[in-house]
Amino acid sequence: MGSGGRGFGMEVSPQVEEYLWEIAEEMAERFGISRAEAVARIGYEWGDTAFEPENDLIFHELPEYWAHVLGCERTAASCWGAAEPGPHCQLRAAPPATARPRPLP
Ligand SMILES: [Zn+2]
Repeated sequence: MGSGGRGFGMEVSPQVEEYLWEIAEEMAERFGISRAEAVARIGYEWGDTAFEPENDLIFHELPEYWAHVLGCERTAASCWGAAEPGPHCQLRAAPPATARPRPLP
């Protein structure tokens, strides 16, 4: 299937890619990181994931939820089971450096 998802370093359908961008947008906004870093983090966490083109599990939760799953250390009690990032969220440690420029927080 196509060449979608290049920015994320994986092959995904246009629907999945669009959703990944929404998640990256939420991560950037909620955690104060650049979009490039959010994209790198998603690629790092999910790069080996085989997404269903149209009805993947990721569509069953909101981008805010995944932004929290992927971006937060979840050390605060208020994070447990939270559906979106909250005031006590701590940005997870950055993934190992890759070729992509990835500014640290
Ligand atoms: Zn959190």
